[in-house]
Amino acid sequence: MTIHNVSLIPGDGTGPEISSVVQKVLEATGVKINWEVVEAGADVIDKYKTPLPDNVLSSIRKNKVALKGPLTTPIGTGFRSVNVALRKELNLFACLRPCRSYQGVRSRFAHIDLVVVRENTEDLYAGVEYPSGSKEANDIISWAKGKIFPDAAISIKPISRTGTSRIVRFAFDYAVQNNRKKVTAVTKANIMKFTDGLFFEVAREIAKEYEGKIAYEEKLIDNMCMQLVQNPELYDVIVLPNLYGDIVSDLCAGLVGGLGVAPGANMGEGIALFEAVHGSAPKYKGLNKVNPTALLLSGVMMLRYLNEEKAAEKLNHAIASVIAEGQSVTYDMKPQRNDPTAVGTREMGEAIIRKMKM
Ligand code: NAD
Repeated sequence: MTIHNVSLIPGDGTGPEISSVVQKVLEATGVKINWEVVEAGADVIDKYKTPLPDNVLSSIRKNKVALKGPLTTPIGTGFRSVNVALRKELNLFACLRPCRSYQGVRSRFAHIDLVVVRENTEDLYAGVEYPSGSKEANDIISWAKGKIFPDAAISIKPISRTGTSRIVRFAFDYAVQNNRKKVTAVTKANIMKFTDGLFFEVAREIAKEYEGKIAYEEKLIDNMCMQLVQNPELYDVIVLPNLYGDIVSDLCAGLVGGLGVAPGANMGEGIALFEAVHGSAPKYKGLNKVNPTALLLSGVMMLRYLNEEKAAEKLNHAIASVIAEGQSVTYDMKPQRNDPTAVGTREMGEAIIRKMKM
């Protein structure tokens, strides 16, 4: 039997309680996983003098597969996002976020089966940002010849042929491998003609290579948001630059019932990090309250990535059954949020383990 080496970053806020449940549930699938637990985030700064210690990166580089609980990012001040740093350091250029309706999850929509493919390394997330009054900001303002107020802070939006071609190819290859029919590229190229324009230009070139196998279309981001809430069934695989991808992922998570059930993966060449779309929900820290489903479904994606298809299917089925029955589910899955029959994070995990054993 294969033993898989997997790095586990428990996360902070509610991360550790969710991660420990997911670890137990994955073990109960029978797949042998040798977990290497490594810590990152605000809570380890005192110990390591950085929120992203080197041993985290070296562990993931060695094991090539990681599961991560959410990590808090301070707003406005403090360190930059560890989540973004991990994606950049490990060159995890593709963010894959499947959004599927599960029976029993309260949502305005049913039968949704969409996959959002978000570029992870470029765009306004590249971290090329200058504060108001800095030399760099002032230089750029002077190049712009009166188009920018003199006291502006500046964020730069790089979109390259290299970054776009690898993400669009990833989306098309995913579509082929997963029996999908269509890829929709989304930008605001009517306004950002050079950056978003390049994204469409490159996407069109790559789409030609898949002609006859996978359909291709383009949408503008504003129209796409409206289309997704009016006719989500028209879409299949959606590929977007980083910032639009971030926003549309949450929109699509909302279509299928919210962050509690939205899994994700960040993938590079031969390396993958699995995590939920949601954050650390710090207000619920230590309360054994939040929903473990999103990270569990990320675990299902991880099992598939490890070629443990049977275990992935068994776990997916157990999660779907527990949700459909609606008994052993967390507060956010009950019709009323203060429903006293809601169970905790741990108890939902235990119900899923029992279901797998039936
Ligand atoms: P959040 O996703 O943590 O929480 C928003 C709200 O959604 C919560 O208050 C809660 O009501 C609900 N929620 C989230 N996860 C849930 C779950 N598993 N079960 C039930 N309800 C859940 O978003 P936020 O409050 O904007 O961010 C908190 C922190 O997390 C921030 O520091 C942010 O930067 C970080 N964050 C991390 C990641 C990541 O690790 N990849 C992703 C997003 C946000």
